[in-house]
Parts: sequence; structure tokens; C-alpha cells
Amino acid sequence: MSVEKRTQSIDLSHHLSELSKARATSPLKGLMKYFEQPGILSLAGGLPSPAYFPISDISANVLVPESFALTPTESSTSLSWLWKLFGSQNTTKERTQAVTIPKYPAVKGDINLADSLQYGAAVAQAQLQDFLKQFISEVYRPAFGDWTVLIDTGNTDGWSRAVMTLCNPGEGVLCEEWTYPSAMASMIPFNIQPVPVAMDGLGMRSDDLENLLSRWDPLSRQMPRPHVMYIVPVGQNPSGSTMSIARKKQIYDICVKYDVIIVEDDPYYFLQLGTYTLKEDRSPSAMPSGKPSADESKRYVSTLTPSFLNFDYEGRVIRLDTFSKTIAPGSRLGWFTCNPVFAERLERQGETSTQSPCGFGQAVITKILTHWTYDGYIRWLRGLRTEYQQRRDFFIDCLAEEFHLHAVPAVAGVWEGCIMYQASSKVKKSTGMTEKYSARNRTMFSFVPPVAGMFVWMRLHLDQHPSFAPGDRDTLETKLWTKLGENGVLFGPGWMFAANAMAEDPDDNDSGHFRISFSNVEFAELKKAVTIFGRVIREFFQEDL
Ligand code: PMP
Ligand code: PLP
Repeated sequence: MSVEKRTQSIDLSHHLSELSKARATSPLKGLMKYFEQPGILSLAGGLPSPAYFPISDISANVLVPESFALTPTESSTSLSWLWKLFGSQNTTKERTQAVTIPKYPAVKGDINLADSLQYGAAVAQAQLQDFLKQFISEVYRPAFGDWTVLIDTGNTDGWSRAVMTLCNPGEGVLCEEWTYPSAMASMIPFNIQPVPVAMDGLGMRSDDLENLLSRWDPLSRQMPRPHVMYIVPVGQNPSGSTMSIARKKQIYDICVKYDVIIVEDDPYYFLQLGTYTLKEDRSPSAMPSGKPSADESKRYVSTLTPSFLNFDYEGRVIRLDTFSKTIAPGSRLGWFTCNPVFAERLERQGETSTQSPCGFGQAVITKILTHWTYDGYIRWLRGLRTEYQQRRDFFIDCLAEEFHLHAVPAVAGVWEGCIMYQASSKVKKSTGMTEKYSARNRTMFSFVPPVAGMFVWMRLHLDQHPSFAPGDRDTLETKLWTKLGENGVLFGPGWMFAANAMAEDPDDNDSGHFRISFSNVEFAELKKAVTIFGRVIREFFQEDL
């Protein structure tokens, strides 16, 4: 959509919570606007003099944006896996460039500690605000014109502020049936309850959402129809599902129809990994240019699935972005993109809690981003994507080596239309145990390789377990999870991610789940974990026979 054709956001102020409406501007923060007036002699604020900040500069050696390759270099060959297995990932020589942030700027407008470490409004430092504005207009291209950027301390803070700004106690929030537990933990103590919507391989189902909202009965539900949605559309935590454009549009249209605000928590957006292919079918892709450039950035950004912002002609999306997965979780830095009315209320809330995010962190990250430039940062994100792609591929390759994985198109049910991999309890000949187990061949687990994010969401076919009794899935899931733990492997147990742990899952009452993260441990450890998992799960499925 061209800039001229963009609509402005509609008035959505009726969504503000009572708490949010009651917030006044912090009186001292209200004076801030006068501080900037040229020539003003401000004796109003309780500001320490920068002379007393005990740091005269901060220097950092920063990796170059093209530090990581853009294609899984040699990754389809067994040689590269050997290298990954036996060479530590951290032994590659890093190429860095030095940057320095002085206390006082050599050139006016340069990032400097005197400003970065000083009190200020609960907004981003000017250079960071400019960078983010460019980033949003190039990458997300919101469909409404008056979108506003507001800094926060990451998506945990972003979501908790959104809850306080939009929801009153006694209300419900629409969410995926499997979801990020910390998000639920920030609202449940305020008596704001999850309202789970069924999922499939593309995330939240639009038909279930429509049914739920159209038939909402406040009396039997004991709460008004929800007017806020929490959704993780890319590389969903925990299911790994990624929403198609068509599904996003359907969900958006339903939210317009029933006047629902969408809070899009999207930390895995830049980990869009593409489809998994078995190692033997993988072909090396053509090597694109490794240097940052405007053309390469444009081309790459056009391959990314659009954010909800891109369809949002009314301004009803609050998008949460974070540097946690693209720079480091300890940055504690992220931002909202939303309409100006919501942004103003969210800022008021920030004023009374964190104020602006830590000045050291903002200064260092802003310095890195402005040093790299927009194209450099996109190049960095492309390299990261490839790294995670290699991890996902390696992890699933290990599962394929350990188990008899059958690729089957899922024809019905939750993952309809996806290629699913199933593992049976049969053991490969090389282990010398084939005869013993082949007669008792059971499907132990299945999964759909994620096209984004950090997680494999493994469905455990607990009904195949010799001692399975209906209603026993939680017990068996916990039993297997405990056995794995005793053998030194920790997976995320499925029960932890149920939006509503009390509700039964009607489609799925014979299975358990594990969330397995391939994002962090070294390749040799990933391989070892799969070997241990193979032994433990086979023993588990054969027991009592
Ligand atoms: N409490 C009092 C009494 C203050 O004077 C101030 C700062 N002027 C604050 C709290 C704010 O403290 P901080 O910068 O640690 O949030
Ligand atoms: N939201 C989701 C869906 C996540 O998976 C995570 C991290 O695991 C977060 C938010 C936390 O983000 P942040 O570090 O920005 O608070």
C-alpha cells in the first residue's frame, strides 16, 4: 500500500482499561518538553550532572554483520557435520570492529553517555527511535499511517503493559490453546483468564475463533466477550507453527468483525527457516551475495511472511518486537508498534515502572545498529536465520538417524496438509536389536518440522504405550519426561504450555507433548541428547511386555 493510500487508525479508545484511563502524566515527566527548549536554564529537574557519571567512554568490539554465512555452507555433506560435531562452534575466528561511545559527543547528535545515562522521557533515545522507524517502515510496512513506536524492555514487559492497558479484572484474553506460559502468568493473577482457541499446523484456527466469538454467552462463560487477543504467529512457542498470509487475513477480519485488539508477540519473526528436507534430498542452494546492500535487504525482506501490521488498516494491532533473539536476551530491549492512543497510554505506564530502558543497554545497542546501518542489521538477521536453519536440520537429521522416521502427509486433524514424521519403536539393524523389537513395532512419536523458530513440538503417541488407559496421558508424559531427566536430558513437558491447564483437549486426548529446543546446545550435545532419547523412549514403549 502506498503512503498516500494509507488510512489513519480508527478510535479504539473504548478498549482502554479502567486502570489505564486513570493514569495521569507523571508531573515531573510533563516538564521534560521544556528541557529541550534552546537556551533554557533548567533548574527544575533532579538531574545529576554528567560530570559525576563515573565512565568517560564505553568501547566494544562488535562482530561484523556478515559474520555468519548465508547458506548452510557444505551443511548437506557429512564432512561439515563432522566438523560441527568435533570442532567447537565457538572456535571460528570472529571478525570484529571497534566502536566507542564517548561521554560527550564530538559531533552534535552523535550517541553519547551524557545523554544516554541521563533522565529523560520513557521513550527511546533519539537515534534508536529513528532507526526503529526506518526498520518498521521497510520491514513491516503497516497499513495505517499514524503508527507509533514506543520502546520497552522486551516482549515480557510489552505484553504485561498491554494487559494492564487493555484489560480489566474479570475479562478473558483469546490465545492459542498451547501458548507461552509466562504470558499467561502475567495476567492470571489479575483475574484475567486465558480463552484458548484451537490450533492446527498454521497456528490459531480461524473457524474456531469465529465459532467462539459468534456464540459467546457472557452468562454461561461468566465473562464478557473477549476484546483482546494474544498471538505468537511465527515459530509459535511451543508448537513451532507459523501462520500463513491467508490465515492471518482471516483472523484479522474476524477481529475487525468482533472488535478485538490483536497483540502480536513475534520474537521469532526473523528465524523463518524454510521447509525441512531430509539430508539425502537436500541440494546446496546458490550462494547469494554476502555483503550488506539495499537490494539484498529489499529482496530478503520481501521473502518474509508479513506481520499482522501489514493488513492492519484500522490500527487494532499492537506488535511486540524484541532484541532478545536477534542481539541477546540480556539486552532487555524491545518496542511496541501501535496506534498513537495506545502508545501514549503505554508510555504513561512505563513512566511509573521502568521509566526508559537502561541507558547503558540502549547506548550500546543503538551504537551497534547505527554502526552496522539498516542494511548491515538485515544482513546480520539473514546470517542468524541460516545458523538456526542448520541447527534445525541437524537436530532432525539426528532423529532420522536414530529412528525409522516415516514422512507421511497428515491428511486429517491438527496438522492436515503438513508433512509429518513418525518414529516407530523398531530399532535399526546396526544396533543389533532388530529381531527383538520388530515384532512389537509401535509409533512412539510424530512431529512436523517447524518452518520457523527454535522448537520442535513432539507429539507422543501415548495410546501406543502398553499400559495406556484413557485419561492417562499426563501421567505417562510426566513418567517419560522424568526418565529422560534421570538420564540427563531435559525437554519441555507439554502440560506446561497448555493455555488452560484445566481444560480437556478434545481432539488430542491420547497424546502428550514435548517441546524440544534446538537453539542453544552444541551440535555434539544435540546428537548425544537424541541418542539418549532414543534409548529411553524405546525402553519406555517396550516396558511391561
Ligand atoms: N524516588 C525518589 C524520592 C526520587 O527522588 C527519585 C528520582 N528523582 C526516584 C524515586 C526515581 O528513582 P529511579 O531513577 O531509581 O527510578
Ligand atoms: N514471547 C514469547 C512468545 C517468547 O517465546 C519469549 C521468550 O522465550 C518472550 C516473549 C520473551 O521475550 P523478551 O525476552 O523480549 O521479554
